[in-house]
Amino acid sequence: MADTLPATAFLTLLDARLAAALGPPPRWLYPDPVDILVLALLSARTEDEAALAAIRVLRVRFPHWDALADADPAVIERLVGRTTWPDRKTLHLQESLRALRAERGRLELDFLAGLPVPAASAWLQRLPGVGPKTAASVLLFSRLHMRALPVSTGHHRVVKRLRLISRRATAEAAHDPLLAILPEAWDAARIERHHWLVKRLGKDCCTDRQPRCWRCPVRDLCPSRGRIRPSPPHRIRQLDLPLLGPLRPDPAMGAGTGAAGTLAGRRHRAVAEPSPQHVVLG
Ligand code: SF4
Repeated sequence: MADTLPATAFLTLLDARLAAALGPPPRWLYPDPVDILVLALLSARTEDEAALAAIRVLRVRFPHWDALADADPAVIERLVGRTTWPDRKTLHLQESLRALRAERGRLELDFLAGLPVPAASAWLQRLPGVGPKTAASVLLFSRLHMRALPVSTGHHRVVKRLRLISRRATAEAAHDPLLAILPEAWDAARIERHHWLVKRLGKDCCTDRQPRCWRCPVRDLCPSRGRIRPSPPHRIRQLDLPLLGPLRPDPAMGAGTGAAGTLAGRRHRAVAEPSPQHVVLG
């Protein structure tokens, strides 16, 4: 089927089958694009729950992202410690926010609404640490709600196995070809639903190490069905820290460390639960 149908028709068929099997995506709030920039930078190779917990903790500690841009990196690194590569993410967060502020005079991205999607994506990718997936996440999941498609690790894995892209294409290189085969009639909301469906398939059935083809809703369409050999234990591992564990007082908080640490700890526990209305990012 993948070889006989045009790519757009095949993708449309897949989408319809997945929607019938998996249902509608959760409600999403379309926040400020700078919030999504921070979340997307945190979410690279990180479980969604860990990235969402990290941004909530950051928001409590830094009510304005200007303060995050100017903060002691050691404090940020500690607060995002449950994500992968907290040191690199801290660097990218601060450098990208500073670059945005230097360019625009303040931390705002709403001006991107006036640009075509390729130009808006290219503008974002000039910021440190921002690649095609982060740029597409900002454009699609924020209130900009533009016609972009983030290709997460899971999304990339699924579309390769379904032969929608070359098996040699990297996730970065997959963005343009996948966007090109989306039906023209699909608006941002439709693309967002498609992203969620493919990602959900990657989590539920088409997993990295051992795909469960026997229960896959599109197994009859998949040329890789039953051909993926189980892979060895994962190459990238989340830090094994407790999601709701108490925060120790942070020496970097300066005077009043004990009280601030306690307060931060209480807030951490109060905000760390993932909220069901948030859709996952790639
Ligand atoms: S049939 Fe197997 S390899 Fe193909 S998409 Fe489904 S789970 Fe993945």
